[in-house]
Amino acid sequence: MSALKKYEFWFVVGSQDLYGEEVLKTVNQHAKAMVDGWNADPAIPCTLVFKPVVRNSDEIDKVLTEANNDEACTGVITWMHTFSPSKMWIRGLSVFHKPLLHINTQFNRDIPWDRIDMDFMNLNQSAHGDREHGYILARMRIPQKVIAGYWEDPKLRERMARWMRAAVGAQESRRLRVLRISDNMREVAVTEGDKVEAHIKFGWQVDHYGVGDIIRMVDAVTETEIDEQMKEYAERYDMDTQNVESVRYQAREEVALRKFLEEGKFGAFHTNFQDLQQLRQLPGLAVQDLMRQGYGFAGEGDWKTAALCRIMKLMTADCKGGTAFMEDYTYHFNPDCAMNMGAHMLEVCPSVACERPKIRVVPLGIGDREDPARLTFKAASGPAVLATIIDMGDRFRMIVNDVICQEQTHEMPNLPVAAVLWKPLPSLETSAEAWIYAGGAHHSVLSYALTAEELRDFAEIMDIEFIHIGAHTDINELRRELTWNDVVWKLKK
Ligand code: MN
Repeated sequence: MSALKKYEFWFVVGSQDLYGEEVLKTVNQHAKAMVDGWNADPAIPCTLVFKPVVRNSDEIDKVLTEANNDEACTGVITWMHTFSPSKMWIRGLSVFHKPLLHINTQFNRDIPWDRIDMDFMNLNQSAHGDREHGYILARMRIPQKVIAGYWEDPKLRERMARWMRAAVGAQESRRLRVLRISDNMREVAVTEGDKVEAHIKFGWQVDHYGVGDIIRMVDAVTETEIDEQMKEYAERYDMDTQNVESVRYQAREEVALRKFLEEGKFGAFHTNFQDLQQLRQLPGLAVQDLMRQGYGFAGEGDWKTAALCRIMKLMTADCKGGTAFMEDYTYHFNPDCAMNMGAHMLEVCPSVACERPKIRVVPLGIGDREDPARLTFKAASGPAVLATIIDMGDRFRMIVNDVICQEQTHEMPNLPVAAVLWKPLPSLETSAEAWIYAGGAHHSVLSYALTAEELRDFAEIMDIEFIHIGAHTDINELRRELTWNDVVWKLKK
């Protein structure tokens, strides 16, 4: 079963009493058949829940209030098979606060030319009813995703699936706890931010613990627990080092960190290499293996990227393509194949590997500790996105860049970390200029499983600014967009 099937989306079909019982019975049958059809399609990652047709403000208020309060309900999908006068929706919508997809579809694909009559048209009038519904959502400024198309069309289903992933991200964002181990790296600006505002906007509870709290857990790990963790490593990774003691220390750190995360119900965490106290190694392999298990992570106190990493991993928990904490590192300005190389000092998630990772122990120039064990590997190729969230002082801004990850044809024998090579769209130069104009961080989250559309929907649900850099980007248009957005977001406040 897909890892996202536990997320439910209620299919709420609007109508009224005007049409009589027979028509409403047919509307219910159609809606049920559509829900069954969507649920049977593996392209739909989540579960659709059929709700009986709503005919008046009491029924609308009841179903939307229940949706608000139901923990499994991740969003509501509305559709007006017939005409549902929108004043009926005002009471319910005024308290509704979950993600809303307004699907403008029709049970029949084609007009039945030889038998169409007024009864048929009164039954199948979503072209009419969904415009009334769209008006009230627009008038009440309720964020809606609108998807139009035939309900059996694979293109429509793919777009529904993308929006569902965004809603899953929003749902998980609201319950996310982020563990800060130490504070931000000294002097660094972009990893800072307003944690209270992030709690209000995204729902993230960001809590700090001292490194000493972790060290107590690290010291308490038993040799048996380390042996168990080493067995896990042996199943997934090849040992490419004689320094087993260093690997065992990472196993010790992983066991301790996992306990800390589980006990505190944390989904994401960060470290800070400047504040390791008595830790003998900066967590490397330990962090990489925790990311593989779905934990969000970022380095140097970057709690925003750690949180985003967790959310993007949960949005794609059923997908093959990996999702990883990433840092822009170095450029390849060769005009034939201009690329950006991303990596981190240790912590690149093995979910993006295209080969079995190796465990290596190599000195680390920064951090002033023992040589840490880490995983190295070549990364997968193919289309991906890079995403980051920055604090603009009066709002959060998400920036997303479409990229094409490249096959690594060159060996890099002296580079002791995993790296990813990508061609950013529309070009290395324009993408870099756009990212920098927008104030994008050097930290980001790379995902082979998401596109800009899911992230745009997520940003809209969370009510934050969204900037997309891709094949369409013209640098001067983008600069204008940034200027306008500054004014718009001031007015929105
Ligand atoms: Mn970094």
